[in-house]
Amino acid sequence: MTLRLYNTMTRQVEDFAPLTPGRVSLYTCGPTIWNYAHIGNFRTFLFEDLLRRWLEASGLTVFHIMNLTDVDDRTIQAAAKAGVTLREHVEPYAAAFFADRDYLRILPAHAYPRATQFIAPMITLVESLLAKGIAYRGDDGSVYFAIARFPAYGRLSQLDQRELRSGASGRVSSDEYAKEDARDFVLWKAAQPDDEAVKAAWDAPFGRGRPGWHLECSAMALDLLREKWGGDVLDIHCGGVDLIFPHHEDEIAQSCAHTGKPDFARVWMHAEFLNIRGAKMSKRFGNITTARDLKEDGVDAAALRLFFFQTHYRQRLDLNDESIAQAVAGLRRLGDFAARLEAAPAASSGAVGAAATAELEGAATLLREQFTAALDDDLNAPRAVAALFDFVTAGNRALDRGAGASGPAREAFRWAAGVLDVLPTPKAADAELAAWVEERIQSRRAARQARDFAKADLIRDELAARGVTLEDGPGGTKWRVG
Ligand SMILES: [Zn+2]
Repeated sequence: MTLRLYNTMTRQVEDFAPLTPGRVSLYTCGPTIWNYAHIGNFRTFLFEDLLRRWLEASGLTVFHIMNLTDVDDRTIQAAAKAGVTLREHVEPYAAAFFADRDYLRILPAHAYPRATQFIAPMITLVESLLAKGIAYRGDDGSVYFAIARFPAYGRLSQLDQRELRSGASGRVSSDEYAKEDARDFVLWKAAQPDDEAVKAAWDAPFGRGRPGWHLECSAMALDLLREKWGGDVLDIHCGGVDLIFPHHEDEIAQSCAHTGKPDFARVWMHAEFLNIRGAKMSKRFGNITTARDLKEDGVDAAALRLFFFQTHYRQRLDLNDESIAQAVAGLRRLGDFAARLEAAPAASSGAVGAAATAELEGAATLLREQFTAALDDDLNAPRAVAALFDFVTAGNRALDRGAGASGPAREAFRWAAGVLDVLPTPKAADAELAAWVEERIQSRRAARQARDFAKADLIRDELAARGVTLEDGPGGTKWRVG
C-alpha cells in the first residue's frame, strides 16, 4: 500500500510520490504573530505535525518550512497602537507560539522564516513580475498582480469569475480605485505613516513600502527551497481551509507567473475548521481561545493530540468540555496499558501462557498493519487511533490470560503511540512516586506470601494515604493515582 493524500487542487485522493524519490519539501503557512495563536490554528498545525511524522515514519526525508508572518496589517496596527516598533511587538508572540508548539509536542520545522528577514527575495520576485508585465504599479504607488494576465487564476479555489470578484472586493477598500481590476491583489504596499512609525517600510526600486501577505509565503518558500535542494516546486503545501482563497490562490499566481512552472506545489492539503463558538461550553472551558488556556487548565497535551486526531483533518470538529473529558479518559487508558505492557512479567507457565503471548504478538502485528493502512489512506488518524485502542483491548485480554513480556508487542505499541505522540506526559515527581509504589507493591506481595495479611493491609493503607489505588488482577497488581 502506498501513501495516498487528498489534493485540494484536483479534489481527489491521489497516490503520493515526491518529486525526488526519498525526500519531501513541505511548506506550511504559519501564524501571524500579532497576538497569541488561536487554538483553531493549532488544529491545522497538529494535522501538519502528523503529516510530517508519517512521512518520516514512511522513510522519507522531510524539509519542513513554516513561516512566521511578522509584517502585515494586523501586526503593524497592533504595534502602532502600542507605540512600539514592529519587532518589539511581535517578539513576545513569536516566543509564545514556540512555547505553545512545544506544549503540544509539535515537531519544530527546519526553518521558521520571518517575512522581515526576506525582504530582498520579495523585492526580486516583484521585479520579476513587473518585468514580465504581470504586475503593475497602481495610482497609489503600490504594486498589484494583474489577475487578467494570469489565465490559470482560480484553479485551486475553483470559484467562478463572479465569486472571485466578490471575494476580492470584500477584502479591499481604499485601494479599489488604484487598481486596474477589482480582483487584482497587492504585492507591495506603498509605505504609510504607520508603517514608518513602527519601522515596517523598506526601499525598493518600485517605491518604498512593505510586502503584501501573499507575497511573503511565495518568496520565502522559493528562496529556502532553492537554497536547500534546488528547484522551485514544493511537494506539499498545507494550511487551513480558510487559506485556499485568496491566500493560496494568490501564492500560486505569483509563484507560477515567476517560475513559469504549471505548479507551485504538487499537493495542496487543507485542514478543516475547529468550532468552539457553536459548541456547548461549560464555565470551565468557556473562555478557551488559545493553547495556553488549555495548558493553564492542566490539560495534558497528549489528551489534546488524541482529541484532535480522533476526527479526520478534512472534517469539522467541535471543541467542548465533554470532548476534552473523553480524551483525558482515553489518555488514562493508554497510559495504564503502556505501564502494564512495559512491566509485564515473563509468560505464565505452560501452554496457556505461550498461547496468550502468541495472541499478544498477533495483536501487535494487526496493530502495525491497521495503523499503517489508516495513515496511508489520506492520513486517517481516527482509524489509526482506533487501531491503537483495539490493541489496548486485545493486549489487556492477553495479559489477563498470562501473556508474557513480548518485545514485538512493546515495539509495535511504542511505535504507533509514538507516531501520534499520545502517551501521557510524565511528570518529574511521577517517576519518584512510581519507584516508591513499585517497591511497596513488592513488599506487600512478600507479606501476603508470608501470610502476614495485617502487614499487607498496612501497606495498602500507606499507599492509599498518598492517593494510590491498587487493583489486584490475574496479570498482577495494577495501580493508579486517584
Ligand atoms: Zn502562506
